[in-house]
Amino acid sequence: MEPLHARYPFLARSREAVEAAAVDLGEIVATDETVTARALERVESAITDGTVGEPHRRTRVELLSYPVARVLVSLVDVHICTRKYAQAEAEAAYDRFTEEFETTTELKSTQRETLDRTELLAEFDLASAVRDTGDGYRVEVGAYLDLAADQRGDSWRLVNRPLADGEVRVTAEELNVLLKQAIRHRVTDGLPFTVPDAIADELTEEVDRLEEVLSELELTREIDTVVPELFPPCMKSLLDQVQKGEHLEHHSRFAIATFLVGIGMTTDEIVDLFQVNPGFGEEATRYQVDHIRGDTSPTEYSTPACSTMQSYGDCVNMDDLCETISHPMGYYEQKLDDTDEEELVDWREDEGDEEADA
Ligand code: SF4
Repeated sequence: MEPLHARYPFLARSREAVEAAAVDLGEIVATDETVTARALERVESAITDGTVGEPHRRTRVELLSYPVARVLVSLVDVHICTRKYAQAEAEAAYDRFTEEFETTTELKSTQRETLDRTELLAEFDLASAVRDTGDGYRVEVGAYLDLAADQRGDSWRLVNRPLADGEVRVTAEELNVLLKQAIRHRVTDGLPFTVPDAIADELTEEVDRLEEVLSELELTREIDTVVPELFPPCMKSLLDQVQKGEHLEHHSRFAIATFLVGIGMTTDEIVDLFQVNPGFGEEATRYQVDHIRGDTSPTEYSTPACSTMQSYGDCVNMDDLCETISHPMGYYEQKLDDTDEEELVDWREDEGDEEADA
């Protein structure tokens, strides 16, 4: 197992290196916590920040964590996880190979083994589809369409490209982007696959962790829509109490404030809303909301889950939808999804219209 295999674990020769070492994946996940932890980090970082995390200093750990990460992605078996994971692996490889392509031959002789463009093109059967013309590259149109299909921006559309003799002209930088896409396809290829029970049983904690991270991701999705009629019953009730000027316990104030921050309201909007309540001084409210938002604290707080709301007695007037969700944000997202977009009147726009009419 060579460092280059660990840097580019999706290469055929990296897979062969793992096979040649006669590694038993079942034994690895059962006995090698370092590999499993690094595999978890690969997938978790892919979900949370689009990277595969810092490479492990040991080549063996880094290389073996790749097949174990693929097992984890297969066990989680959620499209967004597979997509984010493949994208993060492709981004990591892209950063490495673009740097290595730029390394001069002179430097290469004194440094570690690196990957060059010719080898990478051959890896993806693109050697005959890509031609170096000295002032850039020509890519056969079929290969181009396959690799440019998911690229954002009009400049990638075939109609906006110089095309001659069935070839598309691209710059070296654009060819690198197409190679990144080829890597993403390679990583995605075969995912998810069926994992033997014996291996799955060893990875239940890691899979639970990834499922938790994915559910948090769902809940922190940008909502930025304020339609009080669709609020979950608990939040409707708390908002109602705020607007009637009733006293709220700290946990209840925290719950409604985190919810309002979570759905995209600004501090000023929340302060305005709370000001009708004599128990909420502007300064204290502003401070609390900024704190929840993470502006004046190291943590960004999220809305309590239903189980926490229940234990504080803040879960009231449960309805049918409540039976199917575990989080007030999940309830609200579901309601927004179920409602025709045209019928969604954002409370802030509504207020603005009323002010304008006044
Ligand atoms: S079940 Fe959840 S969403 Fe429904 S009222 Fe209770 S806390 Fe709110």
